[in-house]
Amino acid sequence: MNIVLFGPPGCGKGTQAQLLKEKYGLIHLSTGEVLRHEQAMKTELGLESKRLMEKGLFVPDDLILEMVSNTLDRPECLVGVIFDGVPRTIYQAEALERILSGKKKSLDYVIEILIDDAVLEKRITGRFTCKGCGAGYNDFSKPTKEKGICDVCGSIEFVRRADDTAETVKQRLRMYYEQTRPLTEYYRKKGLYESVDGLLDVGEVAQVINSVIEKRKYT
Ligand code: AMP
Repeated sequence: MNIVLFGPPGCGKGTQAQLLKEKYGLIHLSTGEVLRHEQAMKTELGLESKRLMEKGLFVPDDLILEMVSNTLDRPECLVGVIFDGVPRTIYQAEALERILSGKKKSLDYVIEILIDDAVLEKRITGRFTCKGCGAGYNDFSKPTKEKGICDVCGSIEFVRRADDTAETVKQRLRMYYEQTRPLTEYYRKKGLYESVDGLLDVGEVAQVINSVIEKRKYT
């Protein structure tokens, strides 16, 4: 089962991908997460992508597509993959299809999480993560119970994404509407497209996504 989850930055696709991974045992490929990890490790890919990411710009297609192809070669991917952050353009969507068909695979579901820009800015600029266990928080909607202490593991160290600033968010949203939103029509024509209201709470969004998957499974 291969799923593309897409939506503007801050729509909650990372959270939903994690839930899908747990429910269906899929591999979660977040291209952004892979790039952030490469940057922390100071690899060539990390160094090449850092400057572009910090400006809210896209990383070159060949780097992303190679990452996708390599991931799909991992044996754990036989069960399926959730693509989170890729494709981001029609070009990448076409390339993803070619890569998948070259490996005798295909896409089963494409789900867009829809949400308003005004909500997104707060969601993005407020978010931070525990450095110890990765638990996610938000200054506005989900602060830690005790200031500066992780609710889950007690760590006092937190990280914020370098590209989660108000200025970069605007650029990332611009890129989303110009380059990524056309995927809606692209996948609608292929009969793969479904959408979910990202303003619902996390559990409700997950329920809608699960019902899309279950419904299609049997039709
Ligand atoms: P994300 O974590 O999905 O918000 O991605 C963070 C950043 O990583 C993006 O703003 C881009 O700079 C880069 N990136 C992630 N995925 C892609 C992709 N498919 N194509 C180009 N750039 C990407």
